[in-house]
Formats: sequence, structure tokens, C-alpha cells
Amino acid sequence: MPIYEYNCEKCDKKFEILIMGNDKPECPCCGTVKVKRLMSSCGFVSKGSGGETVSSSAGASSCTGCTSTNCSSCGV
Ligand SMILES: [Zn+2]
Repeated sequence: MPIYEYNCEKCDKKFEILIMGNDKPECPCCGTVKVKRLMSSCGFVSKGSGGETVSSSAGASSCTGCTSTNCSSCGV
């Protein structure tokens, strides 16, 4: 079942809500339907972390000019 995360535009609160069919999400605090859907953290992260986290962490910690994982030792 899809649980989505929303951010209320009115009171700026984040909440997660289970959406069934054409249910309209509304803020549990103020009841407005002016809410913005956020990227579901679990679905999104698990998709992105495979390629992106690996490459970005590799880029941050390894030097492009040498095989060392620590640039302080290569002097570039
Ligand atoms: Zn609200």
C-alpha cells in the first residue's frame, strides 16, 4: 500500500498518509488539502543509493588522479 509523505503548505508540517484510490490527502493538523507530496524516502532512496550514493561517495573520497582513497597522500 502506498504511503506518501506530504508537507502541509499551511502549517509546514510533514506527515505521512496512506492514500487509497482517489483519496485526497489533507493535513492532519489544520485539515487543508494544500499539501505537497514529497518523495517517499524509502522508495526513492533505495533506488538512488545503488548508483548515486556509491558514485558520489567514491568521488568525494577518492582522487581522480590516483588510485588512493585519500588525496592527502597523492599530493595532487
Ligand atoms: Zn497543516
